[in-house]
Amino acid sequence: MKWSRDFSFKETGPLQEYIREKILPRVEKPSRYLGTEWNSVHKDWDKTPVRMAFAFPDLYEVGMSHLGLAVLYGAVNERENMLMERVFAPGPDLAGILKQEGLPLFSLESHRPLAEFDVVGFTLQYELSYTTVLHMLDLAGIPLLAAERRSGHPLVIGGGPCACNPEPLAPFFDCFVLGDGEEVLPSLLEIVAELKDSPASRTDRAEFLRRAAALPGVYVPSFYEVGYRQDGTVAEIRTVRPEAPPRVRKAVVDDLDRAYFPTRPIVPYLEVVHDRIMLEVMRGCTRGCRFCQAGAIYRPVRERDVEVLLRQAAELVRHTGYEEISLTSLSTADYSCIEALARSLAEAYASRGIAVSLPSLRVDAFSVRLAQALQRFRKKSTLTFAPEAGSQRLRDVINKGVTAEDLLSATGEAFAAGWHHIKLYFMIGLPTETDEDLEGIGELARQVLEQGRRLSKGKKPTVTVSVSSFVPKPHTPFQWEPQDGLKELKEKQGFLRSRLKGPGLQFSWHQPEMSFLEAVLARGDRRLAPVILEAWRRGARLEGWSEHFRYEIWQRAWENAGVDPAFYAYRRRDYDEKLPWDHLDFGVSKRFLQEEHRRAMAGEVTRDCRSGRCAACGVCPGLNVRLQLKGEGRLAAAD
Ligand code: SF4
Repeated sequence: MKWSRDFSFKETGPLQEYIREKILPRVEKPSRYLGTEWNSVHKDWDKTPVRMAFAFPDLYEVGMSHLGLAVLYGAVNERENMLMERVFAPGPDLAGILKQEGLPLFSLESHRPLAEFDVVGFTLQYELSYTTVLHMLDLAGIPLLAAERRSGHPLVIGGGPCACNPEPLAPFFDCFVLGDGEEVLPSLLEIVAELKDSPASRTDRAEFLRRAAALPGVYVPSFYEVGYRQDGTVAEIRTVRPEAPPRVRKAVVDDLDRAYFPTRPIVPYLEVVHDRIMLEVMRGCTRGCRFCQAGAIYRPVRERDVEVLLRQAAELVRHTGYEEISLTSLSTADYSCIEALARSLAEAYASRGIAVSLPSLRVDAFSVRLAQALQRFRKKSTLTFAPEAGSQRLRDVINKGVTAEDLLSATGEAFAAGWHHIKLYFMIGLPTETDEDLEGIGELARQVLEQGRRLSKGKKPTVTVSVSSFVPKPHTPFQWEPQDGLKELKEKQGFLRSRLKGPGLQFSWHQPEMSFLEAVLARGDRRLAPVILEAWRRGARLEGWSEHFRYEIWQRAWENAGVDPAFYAYRRRDYDEKLPWDHLDFGVSKRFLQEEHRRAMAGEVTRDCRSGRCAACGVCPGLNVRLQLKGEGRLAAAD
């Protein structure tokens, strides 16, 4: 049997057999690719007119921990005329075999070549996955450039947080979904269904894009042209098709109680990053940390009702057999009914050995008491807090809303309750940072350690300081700020390493080159597409993994493309500079971001709008949505 890279075979039976019998036994973790996990959906290919592959540009273990996949997989598969299958980045071993044998990248459920689907949809969770997108398209035999794809090729679409500035990827994608995907994606696939129904237009990609551009939250990059000035900044972004709105507004699910939520998620055969039930208690966060992109692009806060969550939890437990329920959101301790929800879940499941957990803790004693109550039966050894900055001054600049006293009361509570490993997350390179702020990180860590020595009974406490580098992100008040240079970041890391020595203290850090690349791509424009292409050609892929990240590839790629990465990462933007993502509307107004930036420089804090006072960010009136809290909550009461 000879396989060819032209993918002309239409008989997929032999391919499926060949993959299962000859390929999977040769790879390190075959269960990544079996596609027969509990709750996986196998629909009749021939009887389902619209077929989409959900592509996660990272390994199975990472992708299967992503709640968005479960939501979209369920939302599409529950419709009779549509099917969705999954595909993840193959491990280097399988990728090598596919290349060697000229086999196409295949979906998990039916082991069909990706090129046979109508739509391939990538989720863009982080910038360092961009080269993996190209790697997967190439392995699938799908032309990388949208302009080179013809009627028989799948439509390639993208979504997820990085779609808030997808410009560096613009030439590779047919369209992007901005914002919440569970309602707009099925509408997009309905257009495919209608076109497939009509013989005259079934292969008409232009007609699809024309109709897709009219849907709220759908951005068709080829309908826009970008002009640049002599100095390299963006001069204008103009529409070249009448269907394209001058600004594309994100899609937003108004009522999460009525929105689709998957209660039969797939249960993997192998251990994945988050191996538990993920119960989404709310979406959005309005704490207003000024570096945080998720907080800006997922506004406003929309909570689910406790009764709805209890019903979903019961179904999830019944359909998965998991022994842990993680209450998921950007900041779960802020959920206004958290105590009632936690109590009800504990009453229902503790006796059955099912634990309830919080993915992250707010920096306060309340959160620790909550974690203590939830983890009575199965305590994890480490508690993690994110004060982000070492001094009150800098915490006010970033609007973190946390004091040293808050941290010490949280860690004190934790040590007294029996935890003895504390992890503290900080960011270096934040705007206005000075040596005193860095000293403050060491000082805080030592205070927590000393406190642990006083309060930990019979155990040796440890404090781990984990430091990442600030990356200025689009749609945040810090989108105009430069990133620190590599040399400065390394010096700051060295400074902290020297301060965080000694028994009980540990220090871990992120590779600054990865943060630099993230900064370049996050605020990039379309001129970066050839650089991404070149980096992929030179072997870049799976770059979120430090063992696969090779910075020298990028150095050669931007040299080759004549692009200066410093222009993107290190340059301070003026307020009146046109930004590459200005035509993408996530609801938060530029005026609000500028005012927040000004307040940051003045060290002024802005209160969370859940306390009762709208901060006028623009989202609610602009998107015709509203903040939805189901109870009074501690936040409202405290403020
Ligand atoms: S418009 Fe007001 S209430 Fe709505 S998210 Fe923004 S600050 Fe909060």
